[in-house]
Amino acid sequence: MTETADVVELAKRRGYFFQASGAYGGVSGFYTFGPQGAALKRNIEDAWRDRFTIQEGNLEVDAPTVAPEPVFEASGHLDGFDDMLVECPECGESHRADHIIEDNTDIEEAESYPIPEVEELIAEFELVCPSCGAGLAGQAVTAFNLMFETSIGPGSSQPGYLRPETAQGIFVEFPQLKEYARNQLPFGVTQIGRAYRNEISPRKSLLRVREFTQAELELFVDPEEDEPDLDAVRDVTAPLYSAEMQADPDAATTEWTIGEAVDEGVIGDEWVAYYLGVATEWYDRVGVDMERFRFRQHLPGELAHYAADCWDAEAEVDGDWIELAGFAYRSDYDLSKHAEHSDDDFTLFKQYDEAKTVERATVDPDMSYLGPEFGGAAAGIAEALQSLAERDRTAFDGDSVSVEVDGEAYEIPTEHVNFSVDEVTESGEHITPHVVEPSFGVDRALYTVVHHAFSEDEVEGEHRNYLSLEPEVAPTFVGVFPLTDQDGLPERAREVAQELRDAGLSVTYDDSGSIGRRYRRQDEVGTPFCVTLDGDPQGTATIRERDSTAQTRVDLDDLVETLTALRTG
Ligand code: ATP
Repeated sequence: MTETADVVELAKRRGYFFQASGAYGGVSGFYTFGPQGAALKRNIEDAWRDRFTIQEGNLEVDAPTVAPEPVFEASGHLDGFDDMLVECPECGESHRADHIIEDNTDIEEAESYPIPEVEELIAEFELVCPSCGAGLAGQAVTAFNLMFETSIGPGSSQPGYLRPETAQGIFVEFPQLKEYARNQLPFGVTQIGRAYRNEISPRKSLLRVREFTQAELELFVDPEEDEPDLDAVRDVTAPLYSAEMQADPDAATTEWTIGEAVDEGVIGDEWVAYYLGVATEWYDRVGVDMERFRFRQHLPGELAHYAADCWDAEAEVDGDWIELAGFAYRSDYDLSKHAEHSDDDFTLFKQYDEAKTVERATVDPDMSYLGPEFGGAAAGIAEALQSLAERDRTAFDGDSVSVEVDGEAYEIPTEHVNFSVDEVTESGEHITPHVVEPSFGVDRALYTVVHHAFSEDEVEGEHRNYLSLEPEVAPTFVGVFPLTDQDGLPERAREVAQELRDAGLSVTYDDSGSIGRRYRRQDEVGTPFCVTLDGDPQGTATIRERDSTAQTRVDLDDLVETLTALRTG
């Protein structure tokens, strides 16, 4: 049995996660987190919030999951958020063409290939349908948009979409958010919430689903002035797999300190480097095995045209490297797009330390000439002349100047354009901030944490499965058991359980079955500690540690203090 099969079986049996709507046959790509999974997910989200929102001093928002069409027109999702779909001529199943190529050839990142090349590769490698084995050569590959469409309000008057990422809910609100940040850069805004993608072929349990949770940070910076606090992460060691290493068949992932990686130019962007350092510590904190973790740099073909540098956090699960998170320097792309498509102001006024005297070119066109000559286009022409003057003064040197308004070219004699250059004093300028984006998938983090925690050993001659979860994220921190149902032990144990809950610990009480069975149950759900009351006349109880199974005796009076100390490490 593979580790995945073990984990999926345990996850369902013990209430971590399982396919949703099972009573109606279930539908691919939708999962319900059971009682254990919901608690683990919340704990992982809390740990993310603690590190990326609270400790970084960032702002948190909670935006709607549905947004109107213009938002996604501006963001580019409407036109470009596609995957490559190929349909089997035999069984009619739809598959992702790039996945079929990646799974059956040595080609990686087939996603970045153009459609005609993908069709050629399918033919060249004689690739077949993963469901029924029929040949796929000659089948058309089409672009399939991954957004779920809906209509807002009765009728279909206003199209809307379920958000495919949480980020846009931050970008569109920038004009408002900059006010809360008192118009000072840098500032960061985080959001943890659901995102929806109508994946062509959901697969591998929680790894590719149609509804999932993202935790994203958008950091807005002044590219000319702001710098990250690299010293805070300089000594963090991270396994890096750069584009250069990927191009060399003999090169492998190498451990670097973040400081060295920046100094040697392995990581190109300092902000990205900073977040790789912070993320390394965070993944370690929530229980990702650092021996099965790496950062992979995007290859030049994978990079979005506006992205200067991009790395993915990846984890190894059952022999495959899966993407957990992306870290990108996105320049001013997102804010500029929303500025272009909306009427709002996506810039920020940057005050100079000292006022500057600058030359400013101004045009004052003769409207008594422009109006009669060009009719309704006159105002547009006047605006275009001014903007041209700001960009290129020499355009006004000749007898006439040409401008374009709404796709129409106009030739204006310079004698009707009063052009002047004046000295003015400026106290600052409007800039469009750049964006640094760490974007985490919560479901993939949770899945990896459970996988990496899955352990097997032998206890007293019996095989044992257990989840070696970090105490900070474990759904239950402590199990409390009465050894027997005699001598008022169950009542006393219930009281102890309540005292521990009052101290803020997550506690489960269990009095059914043998004590060995109760330990085994908690081992499987990953509870780090169990307390057993055995009626000891000295007023003590045992604390058993999950991984080592070692037991220690503690005074019941000291129990809350001892366990609280274990919880905070
Ligand atoms: P992939 O290439 O695996 O489809 P992506 O590069 O499109 O992922 P991003 O758009 O960068 O993913 O999203 C950020 C994070 O959101 C990913 O690193 C991943 O953890 C998570 N994510 C994206 N799509 C899914 C999905 N279908 N199911 C679960 N998590 C997802």
